[in-house]
Amino acid sequence: MEPELVALLEPSKEPGAEILVLTGAGISAESGIPTFRGKEGYWVIGSKNYMPEEMATLAMFELHPEQVWRWYLMRFGVCRSAEPNLAHRALVALENALCDRFTLVTQNIDGLHRRAGSSGARTHCIHGDAAYVRCATECGVGILPLPAIHVDAGQKDLTSEQRRQLSCPHCGGWLRPHVLWFDECYDEENYHAESALRAAQTASLLIVIGTSGATSLPMRIGVLCQQLGAAIIDINPEPNPFSAIAQRAKRGHAVRCSACKALPGIVEYLTGRGV
Ligand code: NAD
Repeated sequence: MEPELVALLEPSKEPGAEILVLTGAGISAESGIPTFRGKEGYWVIGSKNYMPEEMATLAMFELHPEQVWRWYLMRFGVCRSAEPNLAHRALVALENALCDRFTLVTQNIDGLHRRAGSSGARTHCIHGDAAYVRCATECGVGILPLPAIHVDAGQKDLTSEQRRQLSCPHCGGWLRPHVLWFDECYDEENYHAESALRAAQTASLLIVIGTSGATSLPMRIGVLCQQLGAAIIDINPEPNPFSAIAQRAKRGHAVRCSACKALPGIVEYLTGRGV
C-alpha cells in the first residue's frame, strides 16, 4: 500500500477512533449492477426516453404509477440476481473488527450490503432499500417486504394480480418502493439522515467508495468530515467531488481504482486480518 495511505490510516487503529464509510453505486458495479452514470439507465414511455432522474420521482409516480413500478421491478430483478462482491464483504469484516466504532452510510438501494452481512443497526440506507415497500399515501401500514413479482422485459402493463400485490393491505392505495425519490427530502424516519450526519460529526476517518457526489446529504457528510478534521479517502476510478475534497483536506487521499481492488488491502491493514 502507498506510504501516504498508510500514514492516513494509522491513527484510525487507535482504540476509540471511529470510521465512517460512505458508499454509492460504484461499489456494486463489480457485482454487475449498472450505476446511474452508465448508459443503461433510460426507460421508454410511449415514444419518449426518460432518464433515472425523471423516472425515480414522486411526480412521475403520481402520473404513471404502473410505469414507475415496471421500471423498479426490472431494476430490482437485476439487484436480486446480483451477489455481494469482495468490497461488500471487506466492509463486513471491518464492521466485525470495529463493532460500534464503525458506521456505514449507503446510497445504494440494492440490498447488497445487507445480503453481505452488514448489520442493520450500523448501516444507514439514506436512499432506502428496494427490497421493501410502504404505502404511497402514508396510511400507517409501515414498511413491508416487496412482494415477489416478476415482470417480463416485453410486458407493457402490470397484470391485475400484480396490481393487487402492489396495493396497500391496509387502505388499498398504491404501495410505493421504500426509496427516496429525486424530488423528495431526506428524513430520519425513513432514511436515517440525522443518524448519518451524527456519524459524520464523530468520525476520525471517512472512506468514500464509488459515488459521483450528485446528491446533497453525501456531499454534506464529506464537507462536514473535512471541516471537523477527519482523514478522507476516496476510492473511485474517476475524479469526482469527493476526490477533490480528499485532495483539499489536510489529511486526504484519492485512490484511483475500483472498490474490489482497493478496499481489501485497506481493511486488512486496519484490522490486521485478511478479507
Ligand atoms: P453514480 O451512478 O452517480 O456514480 C457512480 C460512481 O461510481 C462514479 O463516480 C463512478 O466513477 C464510480 N465507479 C464506477 N465503478 C466503480 C468501481 N468499480 N469502484 C469504485 N467506484 C466506481 O452513483 P451514486 O453517486 O451512488 O448516485 C446515484 C444515485 O442512484 C444514488 O441515489 C443511488 O441511490 C442510486 N443508484 C443506486 C444503485 C444501487 O443501489 N446499486 C445503482 C444505481 C443508482
